[in-house]
Amino acid sequence: MKASYHRPTRIEVDLSAISYNLEQVVSHLPKETEVFAVVKANAYGHGVVAVAQALQAQVAGFCVSNIDEALELRQAGIGKEILVLGVVPVAAIPLALEANIILTAASQEWIDRLEISALKGLRLHIKVDTGMGRIGFRTSQATNLAIANLLANEARVEGIFTHFASADQADKSQFLEQLSCFKRIISELDYLPSLVHASNSATSIWHADTVFNMVRLGDILYGLNPSGRDLELPYNVKAALSLTSELVHVKELEAGSRVGYGATYTCSQSEYIGTIPIGYADGFLRKMQDFHVLVDGELCPVVGRVSMDQITVRLPKSYPIASKVTLIGQDGQGAISAQEWADHLGTINYEVVCLLSDRIPRFYFK
Ligand SMILES: *Cc1c(COP(=O)(O)O)cnc(C)c1O
Repeated sequence: MKASYHRPTRIEVDLSAISYNLEQVVSHLPKETEVFAVVKANAYGHGVVAVAQALQAQVAGFCVSNIDEALELRQAGIGKEILVLGVVPVAAIPLALEANIILTAASQEWIDRLEISALKGLRLHIKVDTGMGRIGFRTSQATNLAIANLLANEARVEGIFTHFASADQADKSQFLEQLSCFKRIISELDYLPSLVHASNSATSIWHADTVFNMVRLGDILYGLNPSGRDLELPYNVKAALSLTSELVHVKELEAGSRVGYGATYTCSQSEYIGTIPIGYADGFLRKMQDFHVLVDGELCPVVGRVSMDQITVRLPKSYPIASKVTLIGQDGQGAISAQEWADHLGTINYEVVCLLSDRIPRFYFK
């Protein structure tokens, strides 16, 4: 599907904000830390190629979740290291070899399914499951066996990593358990790969002392707080994404008039209702009814159901067609953040930005 470029609904991404956020985090990490930017899921909805191009001089590499995301970066000319964090189907391994992509080895069963010939020269990081419960080796014995097996078949075992389930929470108990488990497994290895990493954004921010020698930074790069409202950021970051549109229709409705599917809203008096070309197909979910947008800097409630392609808002006065609407971002004194969407939806800011659909064109500035 192509983005709808002739509709006024658009995302603007401030690439210098993303660079700034990266610098902020890095300046609080031990020197010599290898920094990988996590750009999976289209760089959390921000646009993977533009973000990777903007960051490539500042990072050692990029993390993605699957081989297709890795290949997209290579096809765009990104030459930096690329690590796939998820499990890649065995059949796709030749693609990784050809494009010089690093894969994750997370189980003996996966290794056993590989042709021995596929292992030669294959670059791998070993995933250790210290309590997340998704993928990875769970004991040092299993990890040692896997590494020995891989090395014997001339695979290049370059890294080992784990992932924390609750580094973004005030309660540190599970985090500390996972950390000591990882440290123990590392200490029991017969062969220690050169890159050792455990830090996502939250771990890098609130547990900077537990960086081994590499970090994987996602959410924070985009200026979002990975803990939502739980923990305060110790330093300033800038939200990189804004979402704007325009009023395409404005009318005055009499008291008693109804608005939208299911007629869930009735005007209690004479009211100005504005229509904006965005809907649940764009990631403005139906649950966003009763949330608000900024029209010319003024907060206006979303009234009536959210349709697939349009929403309706109550205006304090009549506005001309093409008046500016801000759905995420700042206008004058007013501002709406992805976190506020998340609060309204009962979810996390990650989900809000990932769900902004490809129908909305992305524009970039520095
Ligand atoms: C997504 C992901 C990250 C990045 O997480 P953030 O919280 O966005 O920094 C790091 N590591 C793994 C394994 C991931 O899946």
